[in-house]
Amino acid sequence: MRFFNFHKHQSSDFGIYNLSLGEEIPDFMFSAGIHPKDILEDFKAQFSWLMTVATHKNCVAIGECGLDALISFSDELQKKVFQQQISLANDLQKPIIIHCVRKFQELPNFKKNASVPMVIHGFNKRETIGNKLLAEGFYLSFGKSLLQNVDLQEFFKKVPINKLFLETDASEIEINEIYQKASELKNISSEKLNLQIEENLEEIGILI
Ligand SMILES: [Zn+2]
Repeated sequence: MRFFNFHKHQSSDFGIYNLSLGEEIPDFMFSAGIHPKDILEDFKAQFSWLMTVATHKNCVAIGECGLDALISFSDELQKKVFQQQISLANDLQKPIIIHCVRKFQELPNFKKNASVPMVIHGFNKRETIGNKLLAEGFYLSFGKSLLQNVDLQEFFKKVPINKLFLETDASEIEINEIYQKASELKNISSEKLNLQIEENLEEIGILI
């Protein structure tokens, strides 16, 4: 069985490959966006690359994009570039994969402007933050922290099964390992979990 990897930087497994800025369009499923760490003061060229690749049929989502408090780069510019990517996603009707570091309280304001689903990738924060985001209608994608972080595991047990995804991100861990842990925590088989995640993908408009 092939387990669906919602966000990955390696082109090997089955799932959504995160295209690097400026990279050529691959012949498999990918997402494309401008990560806050990559934003240039003059981001016009970056945005025109994004507009080109984003219309391709293999591009199933916009992102990762978002807000990162640990990047000293201008807050205003981060917000502006994030907002423009939301508008692009709205135009193309493709879901958004969000990268967010210590800016969770700002996300609901952006969500108001989105007419497409938003998924927060690599979620590993406290239950209170997670519950707020779920109540706001965000989906959450979990990665390697699920293998070790006990508080996160407890929260994961309570996350509605139709609101989650699983991913490796840039880690070396195998996606099967994350499914294994997640299915243990949810007390279902990993095959069932994979089927559920396929349904969740359909729910956000991604057909595999
Ligand atoms: Zn990533």
